[in-house]
Amino acid sequence: AVIRIGISSCLLGQRVRFDGGHKRSDFCSELLAKFVEFVPLCPEMAIGLGAPRPSIRLLNRDGIILAQSAGGEDLTAPLRDYGRQMAARLEGLSGYILCAKSPSCGMERVRVYHQSGKGNAKEGTGIYAAELMRALPLLPFEEDGRLNDPVLRENFVTRVYALHDWQTLV
Ligand code: SF4
Repeated sequence: AVIRIGISSCLLGQRVRFDGGHKRSDFCSELLAKFVEFVPLCPEMAIGLGAPRPSIRLLNRDGIILAQSAGGEDLTAPLRDYGRQMAARLEGLSGYILCAKSPSCGMERVRVYHQSGKGNAKEGTGIYAAELMRALPLLPFEEDGRLNDPVLRENFVTRVYALHDWQTLV
């Protein structure tokens, strides 16, 4: 059976980023694409935002992490709800590659702005990614940048194949 991997759409060169651009990953688009079937998803487009659109950032408001657009709109709930919906529908996947640093898709070290304007830190997880990872704890996740590291790449691919083998058996 074919190996299916979810991926942030922008990593495949789709022009879905806030600035109308993409973040094409050569490794994913050229090499990995030969061996797997990608399921591209862009949560920000899926919740009805177009491209281009106002950028979004993570904001720490009294300890609660919110996704706020540059226009002041709170997009936390729609991104979280979309993550929940997709987690329920993505059962056949064997892995997921997320776009680093995104307030929606970032797996770790996403910049979080503090309300006070002081102490902004790279400590967050994208709202959509956090929901997916919480709901699908056995699914291997990785970020595009980390896949440039041969050890992390090998580790991810091994986990994907192991899960796929298991899914094929049961
Ligand atoms: Fe869309 Fe995620 Fe890429 Fe942002 S990082 S453009 S939300 S797929």
